[in-house]
Amino acid sequence: MSHPVLSAVPHSGRRPFVTIDGWALKSNWRHMANTAPGARTGAAVKAGGYGLGAPYVAKALFAAGCRDFFVAWAEEGAELRAALPGANTRIFVLQGLDGDAAAICREHRLVPVLSNLDDARIWQETGIGRLPAPAALQFETGMNRLGMDEADARKAAALARAGAFDVTLVMSHLASADHPASAQSEAQRHVFERIAALFPHVARSLANSAGVFRGRPYHFDLTRPGIALYGGETALDPSAALRPVATLYAQILQVRTAPRGEAAGYGATAKLERATRIATIGIGYADGYLRSSSGVTPLRPGEPAPEVSIGGRRAPVLGRVSMDLTLVDVTDLPEDLVVPGEVAEMFGAQIAIDETARRAGTIAYEFLTGLGPRVARLAV
Ligand SMILES: *Cc1c(COP(=O)(O)O)cnc(C)c1O
Repeated sequence: MSHPVLSAVPHSGRRPFVTIDGWALKSNWRHMANTAPGARTGAAVKAGGYGLGAPYVAKALFAAGCRDFFVAWAEEGAELRAALPGANTRIFVLQGLDGDAAAICREHRLVPVLSNLDDARIWQETGIGRLPAPAALQFETGMNRLGMDEADARKAAALARAGAFDVTLVMSHLASADHPASAQSEAQRHVFERIAALFPHVARSLANSAGVFRGRPYHFDLTRPGIALYGGETALDPSAALRPVATLYAQILQVRTAPRGEAAGYGATAKLERATRIATIGIGYADGYLRSSSGVTPLRPGEPAPEVSIGGRRAPVLGRVSMDLTLVDVTDLPEDLVVPGEVAEMFGAQIAIDETARRAGTIAYEFLTGLGPRVARLAV
C-alpha cells in the first residue's frame, strides 16, 4: 500500500506522523448520511479539515458524495475551492465578512454565512451591479455566539427581497447536542423553526455531528457533521459504526531503567516508586500532544494518565509532557517489545482519541486541530 505524504517536507519516519484513513473517513460520512436519510449531508472541514489537511479530506468526502462544505474563514474557502473546482460544490464561510473576505468569496464562489446586518450590508455592497449572489443566514437561537435574532432576520429578509442577495440556506448551531439529557437542543430547535418560517422556501440546517444523532426533527434539509467524520465523539453513535480516522504515532528514541527513588521529567513530578523502565518518545506539546496529557497534572482530577500503545500493549504517560518528548512507563511491557526505533501509538486505531482527550481534560476536537506542523500527515 502506498502512503503518500500530504506535506512538502520529506518524512524520515523518525519524527511523529499521523495516518489518515481515507476509507474510514468516507465510511463515516456515509454513515452520517444514512443516519439522516431525509437530508443532504455536508461536512465541516474548517481548521484544515480538523487538522488532517483540508484539500485531502475534502476530496475524499467529495468522492463519497459530499457537495456542501463548511469552513470558518474565506481564506480557507479559497484553498478548498482550488481542491474542489466543480460548479455544484458549495463552500460556506461560517464567520461572516469584511470587504476583503467578501471579495475572496466573490472570486472563489464561496457562500458567506451572514450572522448580523453588517455582514448582510457588506455582501449587498459587493454585489451592487452584479447578479445577486447566494448567501446563508445564521440565527441566534440560544448559544449567544454568532447569529441574528428574529428582528434582524426580518431586516435581512427585506434586503434579500430587494435583490441584495439570494438566501440559499438558513441555519443555526446547537450548543448542547452532545448532552442528550439537556433540554437546550429542543428549545433551540423551536426558536430556529420560528425564525426560519420567515424564509418559507429556503433550505434549513441545524445539526452538527451530535445533532444528527438527536434524530429526524433535527435533520431539516442539510446536516453539518464535523467531528464524527474524523472518528471523534463516537459514544454519541448508538450503532457504534463510526471508525477511527486519525492515528498518531511517534518513535521510541531511548529506553532506560531508572532506580527506585529517582524521578522523571521536568519538575520531578513523577517519583519512581519502583525500578522503572522508561521509554522516551519523540513527540511533545509542540506537536499537539498536549501538556495536559502529563502523568501528573492538576488539570485532570480523578482521571488516570493517558496511555500509549506499543506493539498492542498499553503503557501510561510518566511525568510531564515536554515540548518535543514524552516519557512512558513501560516496566510492565515485554522488554523485546519496547526498543528504540519502534513506534508508539498515541491515539487512534488502538486507543480511542476520545479516551486520550478525556484523560487530558479536553475533547477530541482539540487534539486533532492542535496537531502541529512537524507531524507528517500520511494518507493510508
Ligand atoms: C464546527 C461546526 C460544525 C461541526 O460540528 P461538529 O461538532 O464537529 O460536528 C457545524 N456547524 C457549525 C456552525 C460549526 O461551527
